[in-house]
Amino acid sequence: MIETDIDLQPHNTLAISARSAHFARVRSLDELREALVFARAKKLPILPLGGGSNIVLTGDFPGLVIQVDLRGLSLQAEANSHSIEAAAGENWHQLVMTTVNNGIGGLENLSLIPGKIGAAPIQNIGAYGVELCDRFMSLQAMEIATGELHDFGKDDCDFAYRDSVFKGRLRDQYIITQVNLQLPQEWLPRVDYPALQQYIVGHNWEIDSLTPIQVAQAVIDIRSSKLPLPDEIPNAGSFFKNPVVDTDLYQSLKAEHPDLVAYAAGEHWKLAAGWLIDRAGWRGLRRRAVGVHERQALVLINPGRGAGGELVQLAQDIAEDIHTKFGVYLEPEPRFYP
Ligand SMILES: Cc1cc2nc3c(=O)[nH]c(=O)nc-3n(C[C@H](O)[C@H](O)[C@H](O)COP(=O)(O)OP(=O)(O)OC[C@H]3O[C@@H](n4cnc5c(N)ncnc54)[C@H](O)[C@@H]3O)c2cc1C
Repeated sequence: MIETDIDLQPHNTLAISARSAHFARVRSLDELREALVFARAKKLPILPLGGGSNIVLTGDFPGLVIQVDLRGLSLQAEANSHSIEAAAGENWHQLVMTTVNNGIGGLENLSLIPGKIGAAPIQNIGAYGVELCDRFMSLQAMEIATGELHDFGKDDCDFAYRDSVFKGRLRDQYIITQVNLQLPQEWLPRVDYPALQQYIVGHNWEIDSLTPIQVAQAVIDIRSSKLPLPDEIPNAGSFFKNPVVDTDLYQSLKAEHPDLVAYAAGEHWKLAAGWLIDRAGWRGLRRRAVGVHERQALVLINPGRGAGGELVQLAQDIAEDIHTKFGVYLEPEPRFYP
């Protein structure tokens, strides 16, 4: 079951060339437990892998990559909601399509996000005004140290903007095996996001008669026009989180750059990282195998399918430049390994 010296290039959407000392594709909880026993016996670090769309391989991985390929999906209508139980290895976008094709709303804003269901809670995926935590009920995860299964409710997960307990206090301690969602029976479209509104107005759609599948189609069309497909131009989506700053910094930046793109976030302001990178002149830049996408400055690309070092250097240079020019720290969104 455990393979050795495996090429990870086909397993990450940045197409970074790197090797893993060991690799296991697990299709059952027993196989997952066995893989953990193997890693423990050899004292190997573990990289739980979904679709590889939110990782940056900075070099060869000296441990065990566990590709979580647990399958199973159930959708049930209840009195006031639809409940979904999905195994970690199911594809996220296919789940969204299964719901909207059945007339069930709630996930449509999260259409076309690459990756597997098991990774969705890790960074609390979000898009177009909706986050996973808005639809989340609970999850089941296997403790890496013991192989025991534990249940986590919403409060246990500390969800925040592109963040959860699994990136913080419980980092590297659990492998998510199942995610349970709850979607409301009475659906209300969430289309306040400017790009979505423009699309709906442009198509002469009435907000009152929108269907989940229409909103999904709008999101798919908007995303397809803006984001490069990883199969064509290797990338990991947004490379940096949108930085959250206090009102003083926001106001001084806005005074200097009246066209600054920013959104109120409670008492703080979330700045559009893509705008900062674009304004600093990085959009469209190419440096050997890597670069910055020409239409979307937040997306770093690896068209030359090079090693991770070049991309990491580019990301560092961009972050330093943004700090120098705007006094703002950019934090990468994907996780770096090893
Ligand atoms: C073109 C593009 C567009 C994107 N758009 C968005 C977007 O709009 N919004 C958004 O939030 N994200 C977006 N992303 C990022 C990415 O798709 C999501 O973060 C997704 O949830 C990652 O899923 P994955 O299966 O590929 O995870 P992977 O890249 O395989 O893993 C990501 C992290 O989760 C861990 N992990 C994976 N599976 C498990 C598991 N079962 N248990 C424990 N840990 C696990 C990994 O170890 C790693 O640390 C985009 C990426 C791309 C390439």
